[in-house]
Amino acid sequence: MTTPRFSDKELQELHSLAREWAKIVSRRAFGDAGPGLDVDFRTFEQIATVAAQGLTEGTLELLLEQQADKVTDQQPCPDCGTMCPTKPHTRTLTTKQGQIQQRERIAHCPACRRDFFPLRPALGLDEHTYSCSVIEKVVTASARFGSFKDATAAVVMSGIEISESQVRRLAHEVGQELIQQRDRKAVGHRQRKLLPRAVVVPAAVVVEVDGGRIRTRAEGSAPGVHDAQNKEDKIACLATMSSQIFEIDPQPEPTEMFLCPRRVQRLVQQMKGGAGEHDEPDTPVESSDRQADPKEAETKDRWSPELLVRTCVASLESSGSFGPLMAAEAQERRFYDAPRRSFVADGMPYNWSIQDNYFRGFEPIVDLFHVLCYVYLSARAVSADETISWSQYVEWMRACWQGRVEEVIGELDQWQERLGQPPKPASDSAEDRRDPRRVVYEARTYLRNNQGRMDYPRYRREGLPTTSSLVESLVGEFNARVKSGCKPVAARPPWG
Ligand SMILES: [Zn+2]
Repeated sequence: MTTPRFSDKELQELHSLAREWAKIVSRRAFGDAGPGLDVDFRTFEQIATVAAQGLTEGTLELLLEQQADKVTDQQPCPDCGTMCPTKPHTRTLTTKQGQIQQRERIAHCPACRRDFFPLRPALGLDEHTYSCSVIEKVVTASARFGSFKDATAAVVMSGIEISESQVRRLAHEVGQELIQQRDRKAVGHRQRKLLPRAVVVPAAVVVEVDGGRIRTRAEGSAPGVHDAQNKEDKIACLATMSSQIFEIDPQPEPTEMFLCPRRVQRLVQQMKGGAGEHDEPDTPVESSDRQADPKEAETKDRWSPELLVRTCVASLESSGSFGPLMAAEAQERRFYDAPRRSFVADGMPYNWSIQDNYFRGFEPIVDLFHVLCYVYLSARAVSADETISWSQYVEWMRACWQGRVEEVIGELDQWQERLGQPPKPASDSAEDRRDPRRVVYEARTYLRNNQGRMDYPRYRREGLPTTSSLVESLVGEFNARVKSGCKPVAARPPWG
């Protein structure tokens, strides 16, 4: 069934017609002479609002009724096709402009033992007693605000009467539906039945994945702490990009942000705090910093790729089942057909097993910010003198930037020999994690494991990203929403 669309001209005509009715409203309220000099604007507004509400209510109810009258007495069951008798049914529906009485038809299928409502699918309505635009508002507010209390306040301020428990229930229900939809897509992808949703094949794409620690409570529990658990959430960002290809490295020297001591220190603190480690930053960090800095660094430079469209997949599931969710989204957006493809993540093995299983044709790139973090901490560990350790950091950072990571590994190997091996077993105490022998050992391991994904000069030439700044900022946004207040932890819808 296709919905007739009204042209702007037709809508404008209806608008003009309704304007004419103002004369009737005014006459009824204030008589032929109009309002006296003692009537204030608040009263005018009150009159206009109730008149518009009445018109909306009347129009919606009339249209629904006219449509309901066209439904024949017998309708096929949507599940088994059995013809079933229909009878009138009325329910209260909350719309953007207030509550209305929806006249419709109901039928009962004896074979399936269920009621069905033949009009609802075409109307885009379901068992929720809210119109689609109200549900959209509730879901958007629940996603945007940190608590259901704030989300409810926002919806109420937009003129919709709704309680916090209703908002909570609706958000949970829609959340469940989105999870089911997401999982169905993953199945469709596996069975090669998933159709692309993008029309155009993107020229360049990047898939970025990251995770963070999150505390959840037992499912179905009331707000508050119930069986608090530490879990890892996984977040993937899928972005199309526009970027240039260069003959030579467009940025052979590290950019300002990698060479400014204050910014580097701040970044390291944020990464340590956010990468699931136990260290809290020594000084409070403004929450926007982590999002602003990396983004700035990538978008300011004329050579770095520019973001076009971003969607996101997030889950608390194991990495084994997260890969298929990412792959389904990538397939729908035709990422596999793109001529230039990249996959950026930090060095965690699970990221690269996803890349290996689902994104094999994508250039694997290790996030340069994580590399910065490791070389900075190693430089600090091998020298107590701040000036010396800073210039050591700059030297190693520059080498990594220029694709000479094997030189850094060589020097770190020498340092390890000088300092000795870290004690075993690792105790994971704060002291142990600061032990220079351990810091150097971890940096060597990280760089050696990821050496093949650190050809940064080539990535810049090919117009590919070198940092996972897109997903980093997404993790920030995501955590700000799910961690505060008493929101449930569920999958986010892919958003554009
Ligand atoms: Zn049936």
